[in-house]
Amino acid sequence: MIQSVTKATEPDLFGLEQQDMEGFRSIFEHAAAGMATALVDGSLLQVNPALCHYLGYTRSELVNLSAFDITHPEDLERTRTMFQQAREGKCTAHQYQKRYRHKDGSVLWGLTTVAWVRDGAGHPVYCVALIQDVTAHRAADEALQAREEIYRTLVENVDLGIALVDENHKILMVNSARARMFGRPAESFPAKHCFSEFQQGGRICEDCPGSRALQTGRAETRTSEVRLENGQRLVTRIQSFPVFNAEGRADRFIEVCENITPQVEAAQRLEEKQKHLEFLANYDQVTALPNRFLLFDRLTQMAAKCQRTGSKALLLAVGLNRFKRINETLGHEVGDQVLSEVGRRLKGCVRSSDTVARTGGTEYSVVIEDIDDLRSAVSISKKIIHACGQPFTAGGQDLFMSASIGISQFPDDGDSPGVLLKTAEVALAKAKTEPGGAYRFYTTDLDARARDLLQMESCLSRAVEHEELLLYYQPQIDLRSGRLIGVEALLRWQRPGQGLVSPADFIPLAESTGLILPMGEWALRAACQQAVAWQRQGFAPILMAANISPRQFHQPGLAEQVKRILQETGMNPGHLEIEITESTIMSDVDTAVRTMREINRLGVGLAIDDFGTGYSSLGALKLFPIRKLKVDQTFVRNLTTDSNDAAIAASVIALAKTMNLEVIAEGIETEEQLAFLRKKKCQQGQGYLFSRPIPAEQCAALLAQPEKRFFGPSRRSKR
Ligand code: C2E
Ligand code: MG
Ligand code: MG
Repeated sequence: MIQSVTKATEPDLFGLEQQDMEGFRSIFEHAAAGMATALVDGSLLQVNPALCHYLGYTRSELVNLSAFDITHPEDLERTRTMFQQAREGKCTAHQYQKRYRHKDGSVLWGLTTVAWVRDGAGHPVYCVALIQDVTAHRAADEALQAREEIYRTLVENVDLGIALVDENHKILMVNSARARMFGRPAESFPAKHCFSEFQQGGRICEDCPGSRALQTGRAETRTSEVRLENGQRLVTRIQSFPVFNAEGRADRFIEVCENITPQVEAAQRLEEKQKHLEFLANYDQVTALPNRFLLFDRLTQMAAKCQRTGSKALLLAVGLNRFKRINETLGHEVGDQVLSEVGRRLKGCVRSSDTVARTGGTEYSVVIEDIDDLRSAVSISKKIIHACGQPFTAGGQDLFMSASIGISQFPDDGDSPGVLLKTAEVALAKAKTEPGGAYRFYTTDLDARARDLLQMESCLSRAVEHEELLLYYQPQIDLRSGRLIGVEALLRWQRPGQGLVSPADFIPLAESTGLILPMGEWALRAACQQAVAWQRQGFAPILMAANISPRQFHQPGLAEQVKRILQETGMNPGHLEIEITESTIMSDVDTAVRTMREINRLGVGLAIDDFGTGYSSLGALKLFPIRKLKVDQTFVRNLTTDSNDAAIAASVIALAKTMNLEVIAEGIETEEQLAFLRKKKCQQGQGYLFSRPIPAEQCAALLAQPEKRFFGPSRRSKR
């Protein structure tokens, strides 16, 4: 109920009818917002309960106050002006936010709507005010504004490039740090592509951290490097964070770029400096080759590797002859050019994995690993001597030098880097006593062997054309009947002045030089010719087994060569058997299967020689079109003394049986071995017990006795 107050006559509210007046009073009393009427001097006429509650006064207290009493001092001026304007008839209604003073002194914000009621002459008599409590809104707004201000200050002042980007990779906002980072005004960014696209030349890259952040809903990071429009390098660490909309979908992302160019460049400079220091410590300045210090390190590694694998290595000490003269007459600059060129030439003579070092003024060292053969040592040395013997063009003229080489072998000539270097230097001193370029091994014995080897190589190269090769034949015996069933053709070299040389002494050399190709072809042809000749002489045909070396087997067109030889000699392919060692075919199973099939198609049989030494898998073995396995003689040799070898021999025999292959044991020398093999049902055998390899004429004598038994009662009875 609106109370009548005495300080003025209660005005006729808006000239309302009694009924309307009742309605207004009811609203006034029950409104949730504060309501009051006040006179032009500000004194409060009527106040409702909501206003009393809002300001903390009782109604009777409040009606004794004026609008100015409840106004916060800072808004007093404005409130007074408002009343003044109303009095002057300048305003009839207004709405504004102002501060009120609660009875307890606290500040309240109220959205105040004021309407003035005038008398008949148009003078304002009193006003009706509606006051809505917006203190909480105001506080929230202020907090929001304060927070926004904090964020704005942060975004604008932080030294990180920040952009807000939409899901189409369009930039919605950038901060000034980002503009600075890119050297462009901030206004040029909106609607441009985001950083990752900038890197991709304007293409959206699905893998950019922004795209990933949108997909995963998590922060994503990446480091990247770009060239700016002004050519400057910019390395950044970009972090992208997804921004979720009201539905919880990530539809924008914030891209934060940290310029890490200075750190990256500092780290690179440091790394370069370290590399340079490392280079100075380990490399020779003139040739950029490893120095003595690094060589020592490499030799230590080499020694450890050799000890682990049981392999050997070589150290070549290379010394230049007549260099001093170049240095003295043409100066150090020319001298340095020549030394560098020597380094390049040395590297050209070895594999890239080998080490070439400069160990002294005119001395170099070359480390060659995984080398077990004198020939390679000799051929590398010769290559180096030849390379250093070529003219050097420096200072506008051709200069001539020569190189001497001392060779030591690890571990034979020294099992530590220090000793190895010493022995190579001793060998070098020996080589330097020879005029021109020469190489010498530390071990005199090796020197002699190297000389022999070279001599043998040159003699062997003429062996085919000088008709120094011949074949011996070793009988192959049926272990059930004791009868001759075939022969294996074995090569011999009638070396002038040296007698008959065994294949063990020349086949490895022939293999490594490639001489085996003409020699092997000769042997195959000669074996076929001999088989045909025996048949023509009226002997019953027997099997002729011929050996093919790894290099022969891998030469292209082997099957055609075999075919040609068969045609030329008139040999029946069914009587020819080609032996290939197990290790040869296992080195490249696919090619081996192809070549073997081609040979097999000619009707020629295939046997795997030295079986048991080459790690065949049963799976691979099934692929080969073979007829026979030859049990390697190392197993046969120890059959009766070594249970392991006996077991291997027995299992090869059993394996052959399961695979439906023939099996022959080679190297049978004793009756005990024979008895064992027969007991194990080995079908065939070959060895000194029956016959050594013999010349063709002796073999013909055996062929002339087809009933001859090579063992058993008949053999004994013949004695
Ligand atoms: P291989 O094919 O395994 O030949 C068997 C070798 O064992 C032959 O040695 C033979 O004389 C020897 N031998 C046979 N029975 C016995 C025995 O009871 N005790 C001992 N200790 N040895 C026995 P050879 O003739 O010195 O041949 C050695 C290797 O040279 C052959 O091994 C073969 O791999 C290769 N070879 C021989 N002739 C040729 C050829 O014409 N061409 C090719 N490519 N290689 C050949
Ligand atoms: Mg053989
Ligand atoms: Mg063999």
